[in-house]
Amino acid sequence: MELVIKNLHANGGDKEILKGLNLMIKSGEIHAIMGPNGTGKSTLAGVIMGNPKYDVTGGEITLNGEDVLAMEVDERSRKGLFLAMQYPNEISGITNADFIKSALQARKKEGEHVALFKFVRDLEKSVKELKMDPDMPHRYVNEGFSGGEKKRNEILQMKMLKPNFAILDEIDSGLDIDALRIVGENVNQMRGEDFGGLVITHYQRLLDYIDVDYVHIMMNGTIVKSGGKELIAKIDASGYDWLKTDLGIEEEVEEKKRIVLGACAVKETKWDNLS
Ligand code: ADP
Ligand code: MG
Repeated sequence: MELVIKNLHANGGDKEILKGLNLMIKSGEIHAIMGPNGTGKSTLAGVIMGNPKYDVTGGEITLNGEDVLAMEVDERSRKGLFLAMQYPNEISGITNADFIKSALQARKKEGEHVALFKFVRDLEKSVKELKMDPDMPHRYVNEGFSGGEKKRNEILQMKMLKPNFAILDEIDSGLDIDALRIVGENVNQMRGEDFGGLVITHYQRLLDYIDVDYVHIMMNGTIVKSGGKELIAKIDASGYDWLKTDLGIEEEVEEKKRIVLGACAVKETKWDNLS
């Protein structure tokens, strides 16, 4: 299977966020997208999954040649796309177990049903592999979960739904080192002929735990550089500034921050908190 993105343009409100993005992921491959904040990484994830917050103004996304942009969100999910969100939603009144079971049921052919015993056994096994509280399946989806628990819960859903393509949007934020390792191991476990992954991250540390085949650097709404793991070390050591200079990119977001900082006379030390 392959997920192909060609010359994708998308707006959020009146603002153009994605500016001609190209990417191809084949089954069996795990790709990473790294990039500064405000570059459009979450927008890309949202557009692939069909978040109505964004308007696609040009380009195409296809899954095995089928037009993804013409599909409703639930159809994208049934076709094998999955998004672990940067900010997962809470769903009050629906337990984790019910939520996952409904999603699995929606993938069944008419007249077929989720086998309850196998479902419970798989769910318990996955909860254990993620070192989550055994009570998690019976709690309402993400309600009262800590940031780290929400992130693990996204991975739990992925393990149960076994998507063909999973996009993990900053799954590392809010995770301590132990949780990072556990999540990394569980993502690596998904690796296989029928699985493709897109791991979006701001930091290199998650990629110490997830084995990726390709690394793309995104800036200002487009992928500006692609390569292998060597790019991770380079970003870790030198940040993103060398690319801006190399490629002659002026980040408008950075520009805005500078103006805000100047106007508010915020102390120098606050600078790091913003990026
Ligand atoms: P990243 O995930 O790389 O940090 P995002 O995709 O979340 O970046 O956002 C990219 C830029 O687009 C940011 O400057 C953000 O504020 C802006 N943005 C995101 N969504 C909207 C929206 N619905 N309307 C206007 N601007 C938006
Ligand atoms: Mg984001």
